[in-house]
Amino acid sequence: MPSPMSLQFSVLKYILAQKFKGNKKYPLVMMLEPLFACNLECAGCGKIQYPTDIIRKRMTPEECWESAEECGAPVVSIAGGEPLVHPQIETIVEGLIQRGKYIYLCSNAILLEKNLHRFKPSSHLIFSIHLDGVEKTHDRMVCREGVYKTAISAIKLAKSKGFNVMTNSTIFQGESVEEFRRFFDETMAMGVDGMMISPGYAYEKAPQQEIFLKNDQTKSWFRETLKDWRKMGWDFNHSPFYLDFLEGKRDYDCTPWGNPLRNVFGWQKPCYLMADAGYAKTYRELLETTDWAQYGHASGNPKCANCMVHVGFEPSSVVDAFSSMSRFMAMVADFATIKGRKKAQNAYARPIQKSEELVSVGQNHKGPPVS
Ligand code: SF4
Repeated sequence: MPSPMSLQFSVLKYILAQKFKGNKKYPLVMMLEPLFACNLECAGCGKIQYPTDIIRKRMTPEECWESAEECGAPVVSIAGGEPLVHPQIETIVEGLIQRGKYIYLCSNAILLEKNLHRFKPSSHLIFSIHLDGVEKTHDRMVCREGVYKTAISAIKLAKSKGFNVMTNSTIFQGESVEEFRRFFDETMAMGVDGMMISPGYAYEKAPQQEIFLKNDQTKSWFRETLKDWRKMGWDFNHSPFYLDFLEGKRDYDCTPWGNPLRNVFGWQKPCYLMADAGYAKTYRELLETTDWAQYGHASGNPKCANCMVHVGFEPSSVVDAFSSMSRFMAMVADFATIKGRKKAQNAYARPIQKSEELVSVGQNHKGPPVS
């Protein structure tokens, strides 16, 4: 995992504590969708096709905080829908940071410039901006012209104000290898703090089913695109073992409880990508009542057959890296081969506020009453 360093250290400490306690199943990143409402209708999205009464639902800050406390994962990734549409999103974020969580706040960035004042720079807060490639590709995938330019402008503004900013990109059928290699260069040159990539999952509800990659296509695309990534100065916010998996150099089955999803319905069974078995009221109930043998590649479940998405398989790569001292040393040695990132941060002032300062700003704020 990437910057900030305190995040890496916190995750390392957490994993060692789980191993010491003998926990076999534990979460690494809690996925949180406090709403499904969005200001885009992307071609590969399987989250926004609900009826209006569901789209109007919002999780309260208290529900978000209680879920994060019960789950215990050190990192919370807030997605949706578009989180910036939630009227209490800054309260949710503040409360999670007070509880020691590191936050990825995922956004398409359309509303970011106008809402940046609702947040304070913190080592615990990372904006994760949706960018599915260069301008023409991104605008095509989000089905609206001009979104790429808006996102780039918001990224630059957020960086200039001292926020941590990463990008997240989903890869679909027919994407150009050369174009994405250029995209990685250009994105790093903007001075982002890291990049996330993953193949898309074939959501049954997604409007364009033909855009999803099969496993062999995923491996061949990533093998070509990432063939020399360790030498390119590309700072991926992933375990190198997960990138090896995408290239077909390592074989894992999924760890669906590693990045569990809490949304307006409850805890989604079995994973972030499909609600095959309904919802649980608590993370514990999710762990104890899901028939995990029904999911993953080895299960033969056709809905899992072509899945290589980070939410299922990055936890597997992390568990692998911590499975023995020799595996851990192999990962450390691998990190040592990764060439330093292409830096452009000097173009921006980065007065990162300590998380403790942010905590003190919001520590008496309990948020509005639960409605
Ligand atoms: S392989 Fe795992 S992460 Fe992917 S859809 Fe199946 S259960 Fe979910």
